[in-house]
Amino acid sequence: MRYIPAKKIVLPVKNEIDLFGSTHMMNIYRGCDHGCIYCDSRSECYRSGRPEEDFGTVCAKENALFLIEKELQARRRHDTAKKIIGTGSMSDPYNSFEKESELTRGALLLFDKYRCGVCVITKSALVSRDADLFTSISKHSPVNVGITVTTTDETLCREIEPNASAPARRFKAIKTLSEADVFCGVHMNPILPFLTDNEKNIRKIVEEAAAAGSSYVLCYGFGMTLRKGNREYYYENLDKARPGLKEKYMKTYGRKYNVVCENAEELAAAFAGECEKNDLLYRVKDINAAWKKEKTKQKKLFEYE
Ligand code: SF4
Repeated sequence: MRYIPAKKIVLPVKNEIDLFGSTHMMNIYRGCDHGCIYCDSRSECYRSGRPEEDFGTVCAKENALFLIEKELQARRRHDTAKKIIGTGSMSDPYNSFEKESELTRGALLLFDKYRCGVCVITKSALVSRDADLFTSISKHSPVNVGITVTTTDETLCREIEPNASAPARRFKAIKTLSEADVFCGVHMNPILPFLTDNEKNIRKIVEEAAAAGSSYVLCYGFGMTLRKGNREYYYENLDKARPGLKEKYMKTYGRKYNVVCENAEELAAAFAGECEKNDLLYRVKDINAAWKKEKTKQKKLFEYE
């Protein structure tokens, strides 16, 4: 890991839908070493000005915690509205260096100190290390920890997400978080055509999520995105693991950006049915209402105290 200069780390969110209702976003790290072969963050459109940089090399922003504290102090002075800080949309905040560097943990300590909410998305079981801080933040602000699981098949997982935690460890992290009363759920995207787009996989993820104590399972579309940069990387790696599959993609989807599974409707029905059977939230508006409600509950607690 190397350090890179940074001016700002916590930025206002323009489109709330992207980060599940967060008001701000934070990326302490740039790049990610989980190695997911479908990663959209590899797309050229995100890499203007630094095309030579390898996305798989993690960079941490210099003086990150000092900058975050300065930004939170300034924002508190100018704007008293509740802030919810989202992280995990462009790089995983729990990459392999976080265990030692504890930068994400340091940021959570600051969110607790400055009474900000947080929404985290990760593919690492390391997130459960910070259960104590998520519990503490939940006492004053909304918390939502989303762990992405695209397959329960360990072998397939190694092919498509080579350095991320094994699916069983991700479900174990959900269990640890839910036992600590942290609002958490499973994110299922992307769904990869001809690889993870089968009912058995979808139902198994939902079942395991429910068994682990997840509050919700989220799937915002049955497909994936492919554009310049991530398409080439995806195809190159598909070719290594599954010869012939790249050609099937090219024949079916050409150069489409939105790649929708051919059986998307059947998968959507199976997904909704399985979530209802397991009493799990799955609609974005219900999920957002639920984790925001935690804040309302806490507010009322304070009012009576
Ligand atoms: S964890 Fe997320 S950011 Fe990291 S490689 Fe995978 S998809 Fe990309």
